[in-house]
Amino acid sequence: MGSADSLTAVRGSTLSPAPPDPYALDPHMTTGSRRAGRAAPLAPAPLLPSPEVLSRLAACAEAADRSGEPDREAVAVLRESRLLALVVPKSHGGAGADAVALNSCVEQVASVNASAAIMLFQHCAVTSRIVENGTPAQHCEVLTKLAGGQWLAASAWSESGAGADKKNLSTLAHRTPDGGWLLDGAKSFTTSAGLADVYLVLAQSQQEPPASASSSRDTGYGAAGQTFFLIPGEHPGLLPDTSLRLTGMRGSATGFVSVRECRVPDTARLGAPGVAASIIARVRNSGATLGAVAVGIAQAALDAAHEHAARRGLYAHQAVRHRLVDLATQVETARAVVERAGRRTSADPGLTTLHSKLAASATAERVVADVAQFLGSAGYVETHPINRFGRDARAVALMGPTNDLCKELVSLPWNR
Ligand SMILES: Cc1cc2nc3c(=O)[nH]c(=O)nc-3n(C[C@H](O)[C@H](O)[C@H](O)COP(=O)(O)OP(=O)(O)OC[C@H]3O[C@@H](n4cnc5c(N)ncnc54)[C@H](O)[C@@H]3O)c2cc1C
Repeated sequence: MGSADSLTAVRGSTLSPAPPDPYALDPHMTTGSRRAGRAAPLAPAPLLPSPEVLSRLAACAEAADRSGEPDREAVAVLRESRLLALVVPKSHGGAGADAVALNSCVEQVASVNASAAIMLFQHCAVTSRIVENGTPAQHCEVLTKLAGGQWLAASAWSESGAGADKKNLSTLAHRTPDGGWLLDGAKSFTTSAGLADVYLVLAQSQQEPPASASSSRDTGYGAAGQTFFLIPGEHPGLLPDTSLRLTGMRGSATGFVSVRECRVPDTARLGAPGVAASIIARVRNSGATLGAVAVGIAQAALDAAHEHAARRGLYAHQAVRHRLVDLATQVETARAVVERAGRRTSADPGLTTLHSKLAASATAERVVADVAQFLGSAGYVETHPINRFGRDARAVALMGPTNDLCKELVSLPWNR
């Protein structure tokens, strides 16, 4: 079992390197390698994907959709692109992007490869939670790896049976006599399962809600007594399974992750014990929104409509031109609300973020359906990308917080 302070312990200077500790956050990290890892300065992290990165992500999207296999090539491109450094602070080698830049980048990636976009979005979401809630030691050890592209992060909150609002978790975390934790449970719909190097796992760590957690403090998402843990992908107690066959987002490696007899030191805990619900409640205030994925998909559909109109000489018809303008207006409107969420300048930025997901995901589904009609028979061929866009667009509404739950969160204060 790993010691409680295995992340920060100074392992004695011996001639032979210390064996990897599989229970540490980074099992291969020793004091020496930590120093060595800082030696090579990285190129500045970009805020937007380059045309080359977009074209490489576009090239693998179709094949991953056909096979339904985890898109390893897309992850390799994301790692090399340094986009994984997007929201890491500059002090730790990142780009220090705000939510406007993040949403804009995610939109661009989604316009060529929506599966890669949700992997990037979840990575950045976990990174932001570490920035906000991590200890200085966690910042030092983890953020540099996330920024350098060595580590892809995934978010393992959902479970079959937990509900969209994650109140009913069956994954339990118990204290061990050495001050660490023992986790046991099964997660479902984890994006980047089996590809990620670190997972942010949500577990129920206290059976009874603490006395302070009255129902009036219910944030509508998550429950009292839940705790976050950062668990490395190499941990022998963490078992990914990508056998889930999704309708859309098929390259995203969205699958199951079990934690069985999973012992971690207390240093793997992110945030105080039992406070995950309040961390979750603050997420929407960040302005990062899955609406950006929806806007990217809607833009891709609009581009497909223009390609079709140009190829078939349809611009000569006023009705066609006006139809394309109507579609473009919808895309531009959704983009505006996503940008407003990122700016966080509204009276309640958290509400704007929820509205942005509702608005943009509905727009994407509508625009894709309209473009599919516009394409006529060409769009009815199975291999036309519009069909992938439709299946991908549907997923955004189902991703957390689901659109139904967004409506519940917006309306919760009216019912108190
Ligand atoms: C492509 C994809 C990728 C995903 N990636 C991740 C990931 O990386 N990490 C992760 O943790 N999860 C992920 N999820 C899961 C997602 O976050 C959902 O929260 C989870 O799937 C909810 O499950 P459900 O809709 O089956 O819940 P259920 O509770 O079974 O919901 C059934 C229906 O009831 C509605 N509903 C349930 N509870 C409420 C409520 N309290 N108020 C209003 N409506 C409610 C839901 O919106 C849904 O329409 C992903 C899902 C998809 C489709």
